[in-house]
Amino acid sequence: MTTHSYSGHKTEIPLIDLHAQYLSLKEEIDTAIFNCVQNSDFIGGETVRKFEQDFARFLGNGELVSCANGTDSLEMILQALDIEKGDEVIVPAMTWISTSEVVVRAGATAVFVDVEPDGGCIDPEKVEQAINKKTKAIICVHLYGRAARLDLLSQIAEQHGIYLIEDCAQAHGTTFKGKKAGNFGIAASFSFYPGKNLGCYGDGGAVYTHDPVLAKKVRMIANHGQEEKHRHIIHGRNSRLDAIQAAILSVKLPHLQNWIEAKRALAKAYKSAFQNTYKLQLPEDTEGHSYHLYVIQTENRAQLKAQLEKSGIQTAIHYPLALPLQACYEKLGYERKDFPVSVRMQECVLSIPMYAELEIADLNYISQIIKQALTA
Ligand SMILES: *Cc1c(COP(=O)(O)O)cnc(C)c1O
Repeated sequence: MTTHSYSGHKTEIPLIDLHAQYLSLKEEIDTAIFNCVQNSDFIGGETVRKFEQDFARFLGNGELVSCANGTDSLEMILQALDIEKGDEVIVPAMTWISTSEVVVRAGATAVFVDVEPDGGCIDPEKVEQAINKKTKAIICVHLYGRAARLDLLSQIAEQHGIYLIEDCAQAHGTTFKGKKAGNFGIAASFSFYPGKNLGCYGDGGAVYTHDPVLAKKVRMIANHGQEEKHRHIIHGRNSRLDAIQAAILSVKLPHLQNWIEAKRALAKAYKSAFQNTYKLQLPEDTEGHSYHLYVIQTENRAQLKAQLEKSGIQTAIHYPLALPLQACYEKLGYERKDFPVSVRMQECVLSIPMYAELEIADLNYISQIIKQALTA
C-alpha cells in the first residue's frame, strides 16, 4: 500500500501484500477460477497435470506430484522412503514445525541440530556429529529462501548412505551454485500456502523428485494407495491439489522469477538504506536467495517491533521458540545450551515487509523508522 502519509496516522504496510499481487493479475486469475467452476473442473484432470508439468519444468527435469499441502508432501516422502519406527531423521532446530512433525508422525525420532549463524540453515558439521546407525535421512530447510549448504549436505548424505530431503516450502526459485533448490536430494517438498514465494488461494503442496519410482509411489500414497481405481496396493491417504488452486498457480508461475528479482532488488535497497546502522544484523545477500522473508536481527527486538507497529508497519517473528524447546518435544530432554544459534535467533529475529510490489518510498520509510528506533 502506498497511501500512508508520513505524519500522523499511517496506513498499514503489510509484511506481504497478497492483495496487491492479486490486483496485478486480477483478470487472469478471475478467469482461471471462473473456468474451473464453469467446467466443473474440480479434482485432478488437465488443469492439475498442466501445473505439475509447468512447475517441474521451472525447477529442472524431475517429476512433480501435487498434493494438499506442504506438510503432507514431506510426510508422503518419508512414507515412500519407508522411514518408520526405530529410524532417526536429522532436522534443523530453527524452522516451522512441519519439518519435525512429519518425522514423529512417521513413527521415527526427530534429531534436532543447531543452525548456522549466517543464514540460519542446518549446520553441516553438527549434522555429521548427529549421524549414527539409526540415521536414515536429513531434512534440510532453505530458511527464509536462502539455500542451505547443499554441496556439503549432499556429500555427507552420500558418504553415510542416508537420504537428503529438501524442505523447499520457503524456497521456490531459490538457487544454489546456479541450480534450483529441490534438485539436490532424493526428493523435495513444496508448499503453496498463500504467503509462500509461489502461493495459491488456500492450501496446496507438491513433491518433486528425479526418481521415477519414488514419484510413482508418492502419487499412489496421495491417491489412497491406488494404482488403478479400487486396487489399493498400499495404505495411502487422500492428499490432492484442487484444480482451482492449480489454475491459480499456473497464472502466477510465469511471474515467479520476476517477483524474486524484484525482491532481490529490494533487499539491495534495504542493505544500502541500513548502511552504518549498528545493532542490526541484515540477511547476507547470498547468490540465489529468493527472499521469501526478509529477516533482520537485533537485540533490541521488542522495542523495535513496538515502534514499527506504532508506525503502521507489520512485522512477524519467524520463529519465537526453537522447535526442540517446544512443549511437544519436552520428552526428548533438549536444553537451551544445545542450540546456541537457534536460541539467539528466537530472541533477535524480526521479519519486516518484503514483497515484489513493495514501493521504494515505503521501504525508505520502514528503514527510517528502524534506524530511528535503534538510535533512540
Ligand atoms: C510452510 C512450511 C511448511 C508447511 O507447509 P504447509 O503447506 O503449511 O503444510 C513446511 N516447512 C516449512 C519450512 C514451511 O515454512
